[in-house]
Amino acid sequence: MGKTVKVAVLLPIDNTFDYLVPEDEEIIENIIGKRVIVPFGTRYVTGVVMEVCENSLVDELKPIVEILDENPIFDSYTIKLITWISKYYLCSIGEVFRAAMPPNFNLNTIKEIQILRQPSPEEHIQMHKKAPKRKKLLELLINTNGKISFKTIEKELDLRNISPQLEALEQKGYIKIKETIETQIETKILALSINPKFLEDEQQMIQYFDKFEKKYPKRVQLISYLINEKNNGREFVPQTEIIHKFKIASTTIQSMREEGIIIQTKINKKIKSNPENNLASNETHHLLNKEQERVYLDIMRVIENGGYSAHLIFGVTGSGKTLVYAKLIDEVLNRNKNVLYLLPEISLTPQLVDRIQSFFHQKVAVLHSQLSDNERNQIYRKIQRGEYRICMGVRSAVFAPMPNLGLIIVDEEHDPSYKQENPAPRYNARDTALMRASILGIPVVMGTGTPSLESWYNAKNGLYHFHTILNRADGALLPKIKIIDMKIARKEKKVRQYFSEELLESIIEKIKKKEGVILFHNRRGYSPQLFCPDCGNVPMCPNCDASLTYHKHSSKLICHYCGFVADAPKICNVCGSDELKQLGFGTERLEEDLESILKEYGIEAIIKRFDRDTTSRKNAYRNLMHRFIEGDIDVLVGTQMLSKGINIERVSLVGIVDADIHLFFPDFRANERTFQLFLQTAGRAGRKSNIPGEVIIQTSNPNNSVIRHIHNYSLEKFYEEELILRKQFKYPPIARFSKVQFNAEDFDTAMQVAEEFHKLLPKDKPGFIFSKPVIPGIPRIRNLYRIQIFIKSSKKVDRTGKILQNIIKNTYKEFVQTELSKKVKLVIDVDSYSNL
Ligand code: ADP
Ligand code: ZN
Ligand code: ZN
Repeated sequence: MGKTVKVAVLLPIDNTFDYLVPEDEEIIENIIGKRVIVPFGTRYVTGVVMEVCENSLVDELKPIVEILDENPIFDSYTIKLITWISKYYLCSIGEVFRAAMPPNFNLNTIKEIQILRQPSPEEHIQMHKKAPKRKKLLELLINTNGKISFKTIEKELDLRNISPQLEALEQKGYIKIKETIETQIETKILALSINPKFLEDEQQMIQYFDKFEKKYPKRVQLISYLINEKNNGREFVPQTEIIHKFKIASTTIQSMREEGIIIQTKINKKIKSNPENNLASNETHHLLNKEQERVYLDIMRVIENGGYSAHLIFGVTGSGKTLVYAKLIDEVLNRNKNVLYLLPEISLTPQLVDRIQSFFHQKVAVLHSQLSDNERNQIYRKIQRGEYRICMGVRSAVFAPMPNLGLIIVDEEHDPSYKQENPAPRYNARDTALMRASILGIPVVMGTGTPSLESWYNAKNGLYHFHTILNRADGALLPKIKIIDMKIARKEKKVRQYFSEELLESIIEKIKKKEGVILFHNRRGYSPQLFCPDCGNVPMCPNCDASLTYHKHSSKLICHYCGFVADAPKICNVCGSDELKQLGFGTERLEEDLESILKEYGIEAIIKRFDRDTTSRKNAYRNLMHRFIEGDIDVLVGTQMLSKGINIERVSLVGIVDADIHLFFPDFRANERTFQLFLQTAGRAGRKSNIPGEVIIQTSNPNNSVIRHIHNYSLEKFYEEELILRKQFKYPPIARFSKVQFNAEDFDTAMQVAEEFHKLLPKDKPGFIFSKPVIPGIPRIRNLYRIQIFIKSSKKVDRTGKILQNIIKNTYKEFVQTELSKKVKLVIDVDSYSNL
């Protein structure tokens, strides 16, 4: 008889199952944390071995079919962490494993499979014994020279997913998997050509040459160059090329245009999306300034003592937190320990990645969200083998199998993208990082310019070591914030579309100085609604209770909740009226209108949109950012993406075009979120002392408390006031806020079931408040009605969350006995980020 192992199958089933393994010392030795294939009901599924036990209570045990991994992908610490998540966030352990493991190879992007070698006779025997499915797969591939459909393979092997086996074969060097990738993107750029009028008048030309030959030889060279290029059939030369080639200022170009010598236009250009564009300026030589040094030393002093410790660095935007992290990382590396560095949505912050990479070079692994599954998979493998010293990544990287960790950094700890909403596990990576550090007994350093209320509270209460940096590095000042009262501006007729004259003037001034402008507007698309004035019709999403957003660029109506897409109508589909109006404005419209307004002022600016629509393609973010840094883009108009981690010296103006759309959300976190978003976005301006920054916020509510606190940089006050509100209404950080959601295809069922569940919840549990079933602002999304029950639980009464877990578990147990329970899908969200 062999031994028994407990296996967590990767299904949303809340249990582990026992299986047999052959009693082979070598196998038993390190089987924990490996993936295995096991029979489950009538099929085969993947699972992870959790523990080895002497005997099982189950009689007829089935054996494990195959062990997928050569080495465990989870160590015992990580298994502990995963178990905690499953308990705390009330989800199955299989779901957590699934989130934590390297992604499967994505079969769709595989272009070709190349056979590299045949197995040796010995390998053949080994595989036959230990990995029959893998062996069969390799045989199939070899026999067909890699030209066999995955469908056929899956049938032959009786497996639903052959990715892990393919991956194992590549690991062992039998095959090479090749992928398809795309490279080119089309974009508009500024270009220069010689003015034909100038060429016509030979007399004038000669005069000009005489006049400038000595004084500004570059001008003459430029003219000759443009004429020459024109004769060679290249009429328009990209402005960046000219600036680089002749090292002339853009003001020179401006005056040559005004003199009628050259013309500036925009041309379409196919540019190669270039992953090589480095977005970091060299800062490795910087020494810590006084404030940074103090924080660094304070943290090091605690780290020296060994063991778990949590630190919050509260440093204003531009205070040089990155440099402090870099120093800490350096110190930890010197002690032969490795570092995990979490940051929010990495595809949005390649600049930060570049900066860290410029300090530590090839030691850095980067797990960003634009990697293909296969690329990500391979990086996971290398991380596991210890080929990197630092791993940077988004939310899920908190599980990265980095060996020998000595420090975890959570940058921008306040960022909502750390919380996973769907699917389960609905974990918060910051809190998970704290747990991982505590399990490992290592320090964790969180940093932000705008702490979450939770971290602020914890730091103030001594749960975290609190470190502050009050000033910007390099002697720069925080940007001056101006609030424009749009009610007054409108009354005085000092508004063009949605731009106050002051904002416009400032934009123009910066463009003329070749400084960078960021306009923040957190709405994608052209207009959030179409509206028929004749019949009142507003096109709605067929799947959601939400209006469709008009995207002019693609001429589509898109639902921002479910992704539904339809062609934009020319006439009202209800009454046929052709007077359809566009209500409100998004980034597309902002870009278009600003361009035409600036034209009236005689300014040809390059304005680019920076939002999900324009940055979704691989490296698009990097390209846009690179061009903005180079001065090839004057104005970036974008959504909250612009608020994250951008450090660009030439940005001297940040405009928040419509603050009001953020102010009145019925969400407990609305104030906090707005405060963070505005201050972070504002923090992009004036980051170096040589170019002072300015922020203009347009609002009709200048007396709103969030706006006032931002205006005065009264951060402490904001947090204190907000904390009073949270206390009063029993929200985080004072209480734990969780959500139970009931999804059903019709409203009545969802409501009925929610009411049934509500009845089963305990009555009068001290420290707990259960809301009645609530209909959310958007009741239906993706054709599912959602009814919610909110649970507020006192952290004093239930410090670790155990009582909450038991309440939900027990209620759930009773609930699944009822007939009604089968009609809904139940979603449990512990520490829910918002109540919307
Ligand atoms: P934060 O992350 O706190 O917003 P950054 O780390 O992006 O700030 O630093 C802002 C800018 O200040 C960067 O350009 C950085 O190179 C520069 N900087 C930071 N520390 C120093 C220093 N000690 N000396 C000179 N420049 C510094
Ligand atoms: Zn109509
Ligand atoms: Zn929809």
